[in-house]
Amino acid sequence: MTDRYASFVQSGAGRALVKRLGLPDPPRLRRHTPGDPLLPGPALLGAATDGRLAEPVGKILTAAGVEVRDPAADTDAAARFGALVYDATGITDSTGLRQLYDFFHPRARSVLPSGRVIVLGTPPAECGTPREATAQRALEGLTRSIGKEFGRGVTAQLVYVTAGTDPGTLTSLEATLRFLLSGRSAYVSGQVVRVGAGRAAPPADWDHPLDGQVVLVTGAARGIGAALARVLARDGAQVVALDIPAAGDELAAVANEIGGSAVQLDLTAPDAPTRLADHLAARHGRVDVVVHNAGITRDKTLGRMDADRWDSVIDVNLSSQERINDVLLERELIPAGGRLVSVSSIAGIAGNRGQTNYATSKAGVIGLVDSLAPALRDRQISVNAVAPGFIETRLTARIPLMLREAGRRMNSMSQGGLPVDVAETIGWLSWPASGAVSGNVVRVCGQSLLGA
Ligand code: NAD
Repeated sequence: MTDRYASFVQSGAGRALVKRLGLPDPPRLRRHTPGDPLLPGPALLGAATDGRLAEPVGKILTAAGVEVRDPAADTDAAARFGALVYDATGITDSTGLRQLYDFFHPRARSVLPSGRVIVLGTPPAECGTPREATAQRALEGLTRSIGKEFGRGVTAQLVYVTAGTDPGTLTSLEATLRFLLSGRSAYVSGQVVRVGAGRAAPPADWDHPLDGQVVLVTGAARGIGAALARVLARDGAQVVALDIPAAGDELAAVANEIGGSAVQLDLTAPDAPTRLADHLAARHGRVDVVVHNAGITRDKTLGRMDADRWDSVIDVNLSSQERINDVLLERELIPAGGRLVSVSSIAGIAGNRGQTNYATSKAGVIGLVDSLAPALRDRQISVNAVAPGFIETRLTARIPLMLREAGRRMNSMSQGGLPVDVAETIGWLSWPASGAVSGNVVRVCGQSLLGA
């Protein structure tokens, strides 16, 4: 599906008209192509007094090929940056928040198009005093507002990093920074990501962060699932692509294109979990990453909704995930270092008219992450979800025109996301290097106003 308005605005004549009339101005987003530099320009790395992360982050950025500049030497008012990165871990009470203003205010116009703003903090729950926890919580308001203010495809995120000494923390911080700075996170903004402790292994090559991993993708015949299969294979994974038998031809085409294998299976069939487990055990002996992407909608307002619509949506979108997780975990087919990633939706966060069944299932997916992530910590398996907003697929092409336009424009990017944007985010959460990122729900919604 094409967004004709965005194409028009990005043309010369369109730009002039949109500026004059004050219409939404969707920028062309920077998306990832293998081999791209991480950023379109240097990163300015600032820190509050006594910040604990500036030094390791400086090393991470330099190792990733980013030119890192020091604010003390930043005297050129015309300098433009690919990213502003600020270590706010040293802020221990509300008066210290002034340091944020001092860093960001003079540089509010210095970020290049599709540049990045990243603020690093300490999880409020881990802070030593109520005042420190208060100040660290305040960082959310700053980053979310910058995401709404800077425009031109600039994204802003807050990354809370545990103060512990687990070696996995720095590896996962590196993975997270590489994702958030790159074009992989084009449609992710205004998010809070938590990096905790956990088993995390850096890849031999960051261009192939999934090398050697066996990854199952459900609902892989089309839409987001097909994009996922392609992105994960591009990044080095061996992909097992699953979909219903009726989508067998499309599924086979995707699997052949990426050199993966195809499994035709209806996830709601009573024997689906055992058949899937048998297949994975026989073919691969394990599955490192399970991506629960298959999903359906059966929209009706609650008063008009028949029980079939309710049951089928809850079953495909939520209960089947639970049944499959149970069997794969019970048979120990997901090894230490494994990943579970589910696809939720902003409807599961904000609710949506006509989607009580869908929103219930997708909020349940968030509950699954909240409950399973701590339960599987000892087995060193991470559990996360992504919550897409308006993504240009067949599913959203069916939405009536005016609603569709509202969904597309009511976000900081003034446009819908692409399936690849969701796929790249799931990719990052699947990397062996991301093990210390668990229990997160990351929205891929261009900072949609829905549920904001
Ligand atoms: P889609 O309809 O294009 O693809 C979903 C796939 O899941 C299809 O190939 C379908 O055959 C498969 N599937 C459905 N029931 C299945 C079953 N019982 N067993 C096996 N496979 C089954 O949808 P999409 O837009 O690509 O959505 C993918 C996921 O993203 C879904 O979970 C959806 O709820 C979620 N999502 C999408 C959007 C969006 O804007 N498109 C927004 C938020 C969330």
